[in-house]
Amino acid sequence: MPGKNISNAARLSPDEIILRDELIADVRTLGADIGERNMSRYPRLKMAADFIESSVAQAGLRPRRDSYEINGLACDNIEAEILGTDPRIIVIGAHYDSVFGAPGANDNGSGVAAVLALARRFARKQPTQTLRFVAFVNEEPPYFQTPQMGSFVYAGHCKARGDQITAMISLETIGYFSDVPHSQRYPSPGLGAFYPTTGNFIGFLGNMRSRALLRRTMSIFREQAELPSEGAALPSFIPGVSWSDHWSFWEHGYPGIMVTDTAPFRYRHYHEPTDTPDKLDYDRFALVVSGMEKVIVDLVGVSH
Ligand SMILES: [Zn+2]
Repeated sequence: MPGKNISNAARLSPDEIILRDELIADVRTLGADIGERNMSRYPRLKMAADFIESSVAQAGLRPRRDSYEINGLACDNIEAEILGTDPRIIVIGAHYDSVFGAPGANDNGSGVAAVLALARRFARKQPTQTLRFVAFVNEEPPYFQTPQMGSFVYAGHCKARGDQITAMISLETIGYFSDVPHSQRYPSPGLGAFYPTTGNFIGFLGNMRSRALLRRTMSIFREQAELPSEGAALPSFIPGVSWSDHWSFWEHGYPGIMVTDTAPFRYRHYHEPTDTPDKLDYDRFALVVSGMEKVIVDLVGVSH
C-alpha cells in the first residue's frame, strides 16, 4: 500500500499513544542519554544493562542476568521470564549494544524499547506457554555471528538446559519509515520486482525452517495492524536474512524470525553517528509494537 499515510497521531488508539510515549522515552534514554554502548564504551554498556534491568523490575518482573566474560569483563544478557503452564518457551529479544561510533537509537534502541514495552504489557498476564523477554549484549561486530555474540551464548545455555524454544522473535531496528518513492532497497535487485520500493512497511524474515512461524506471525500481524507488512522465508545466505540475534537460535536448532524496518536497505543513518532518536517515526513504530503484542498473545495463548 504505497503512500498510505499514517504519520499522524489520529490513527493511534489511546493505548497506542501511551505506548508511543514509552517508546520515545526509552529510545531517548538509550540513544541520547546513554549513547554509544559497547565493549569500547564499557561503562555505557553497563549503564544500558542497568537501565534495562531496572525497567524490567519496575514492570513487576524479576530480571536475571545471563553472564559471560570477554577479556575479564562481564557481559550480560538480561532476561525476564513469565512462566506458563506449558513448558514450551517463546523468546522475544533485542540487542542493546550499539556499533562502534554510533549511538544506536534505531539500531537497536528501538528493539530494546519494544521489548521493554511488551514486557510491561505482559507482566500481569498469565500466558499458557512460557514467555521470555531478553536483551542481548554484543550483537555488533566484532562479536557478530561469533561464539562471543551475546545471543549465541544465551541460545547455547538454552540448548544445554534442554529448553523447548518454539519461537524466537528478534526485534531488530524497527523504527524508521519513509513515504519517499524508491526509499526501499534490497540485497538483490530481483527482490525489488516483488516487494515495495517505498520504505513504509515493516518486514518479517525467516529461514526456510522457520517458515511456519513466519507465516503465522505475519497473518496475525496483518489481521490486527494498520501498518503495511512484507515478509519472506528465504535461504539464510541472502545478505541481511541472518543479520541479527535470531541467527544464534538457528545455529542451536531453534526456529526464529526477525522483525525489521530492513535497516541498511532503507535507513541511511544505519551504523552512523547520526543514528539518533529524532530520526524515528514513533507513530508507525508504535503500530509495529502494538501489532506484535497481538502476535505474542496468539503465539503464547493468554488466559487473562
Ligand atoms: Zn542491530
